[in-house]
Amino acid sequence: MATSVSSRSSIEGVGGGVLQKGIAELYDESSGMWEDIWGDHMHHGFYDSDVPASISDHRSAQIRMIEQSLSFAGFDNENSLKIPKNIVDVGCGIGGSSRYLARKYGAKCQGITLSPIQAQRAQELANAQGLGDNVLFQVADALQQPFPDGQFDLVWSMESGEHMPDKTKFVKELIRVAAPGGIIIIVTWCHRDLSPSEDSVQPQEKELLKKICDAYYLPDWCSAPDYVKLLQSLNMEDIKFADWSEYVAPFWPAVVRSALTWKGLTSLLRCGWKTIKGALAMPLMIEGYKKNLIKFSIITCKKPE
Ligand code: SAH
Repeated sequence: MATSVSSRSSIEGVGGGVLQKGIAELYDESSGMWEDIWGDHMHHGFYDSDVPASISDHRSAQIRMIEQSLSFAGFDNENSLKIPKNIVDVGCGIGGSSRYLARKYGAKCQGITLSPIQAQRAQELANAQGLGDNVLFQVADALQQPFPDGQFDLVWSMESGEHMPDKTKFVKELIRVAAPGGIIIIVTWCHRDLSPSEDSVQPQEKELLKKICDAYYLPDWCSAPDYVKLLQSLNMEDIKFADWSEYVAPFWPAVVRSALTWKGLTSLLRCGWKTIKGALAMPLMIEGYKKNLIKFSIITCKKPE
């Protein structure tokens, strides 16, 4: 695989015990506040253009992100793929995608997260919405999923890939649990594509990414083409990817604005240090997008029949 030195290391990664503990604690601490202000989707919204929007617009933009991802992968269009009946939501947060997809398709969905508080809340919401028979959540590691091979016709990873210390293992697990002919959707934060003469992103860019990694418990980043090469090397079909950075531009400014309200500030203070550290890093995400360093990416493929 013709990856660069830096992306090779970020693709292969290192063990993640400390990282996993940090991720679990960050989401244990902050998910209640996020739900309170933003609702049950912990991912970017998909917007038309860089215009300020109200909280309810942000919520519909988050739903739109799910819909856009499905149609990019080939669901809901002319040559529509078969409706998924058995879905896994890898890195499920408090289960917003799981419940949405289960309801939309009348499908069964299983979600996994590192955060016990998220898993519990996700199940509580599913039960309260009458989805308890079809939607199940548990604490489990995406790199060692508690599922047999070939089970899911849709493998969904919405903004969890950036947390995975070993991208190869992550992608192999997504493929392992996918049914033959199953669709894999990865929506994730990537760094910009490297030019042929580059081994890695530039030192200043690395510095910015490092600060973001420290705040959000992220390992090294890779580019979307790195994912594509990985999927090609594992013989996946119909591999597609896109840079959606321009469609998510209003998101972080809106998160910053919501943190600066009275409700936002008081909830932040109640959450604890990890959440405050995350909030302080929000302007760095905006800077990363503005500098074309951070690329909000979607990568999809099909496991051969
Ligand atoms: N997909 C959700 C949540 C995104 S937040 C949504 O769109 O609302 C990132 C999620 O990834 C968190 O739930 C976190 O626990 C999960 N995550 C990160 N690393 C993980 C790992 N190794 N295994 C399982 N889940 C992981």
